[in-house]
Amino acid sequence: PATLGVPDLTTWLRRYAAEIVAHEQELTDLDAAIGDGDHGANMTRGMTAVVAVLDQTPFETLDALAKKVGMTLVSSVGGASGPLYGTFWLRFAKPLSGLARTDAATLGLALRAGVEGIQQRGKAEGGDKTMLDAFLPALAAYDAAVDAGAEPTAALRDAATAGRAGCAATVTMVARKGRASYLGERSAGHQDPGATSAALLLECAVS
Ligand code: ADP
Ligand code: MG
Ligand code: MG
Repeated sequence: PATLGVPDLTTWLRRYAAEIVAHEQELTDLDAAIGDGDHGANMTRGMTAVVAVLDQTPFETLDALAKKVGMTLVSSVGGASGPLYGTFWLRFAKPLSGLARTDAATLGLALRAGVEGIQQRGKAEGGDKTMLDAFLPALAAYDAAVDAGAEPTAALRDAATAGRAGCAATVTMVARKGRASYLGERSAGHQDPGATSAALLLECAVS
């Protein structure tokens, strides 16, 4: 389809919540290696709260839904990832203001706004071994696909592939932001937990 609507975003979020639960132990183990071991619990708490919202509230527009998701994550998740993912969804909402459906180009603006929000909030760059190392290549792949005429689902598939590769590339990186940066060089050799949850998020948009 040339456009995605509120039901598609709802499906994406429900799928993500299920995948987070399925990968909770993996996220915990990754964060135990280079952080404080709570990323699995943090993400499960946040996405469980999001599913509770989806079960309770019907949404007319994409921005109303995304904004509520962002506020729910900010208020339910402690730690770095809550405000960062919360900011992603709050900023994602803005280009979709008043829309029940979005085309590929406008969805790209929403993804870009969300990722730029994470950058502004966390002051990290690509290569710092964070969730941005999944999001930034995903965004570039999304835009390239749309420029080549792709529909939203195909562009999201390219974004997911690039996000997974970007996540894998965090293994060799030395962390320069977040708790893992306290380890310095010893953070190398481990995949970043936030890049892993971000890769999952992108994959859930399509599969
Ligand atoms: P905390 O580190 O507070 O325990 P989490 O364990 O839930 O929070 O999340 C850790 C993840 O957050 C990291 O793996 C990293 O991907 C991401 N992260 C941490 N700081 C930043 C930052 N400044 N910018 C972007 N992402 C960050
Ligand atoms: Mg942690
Ligand atoms: Mg923590």
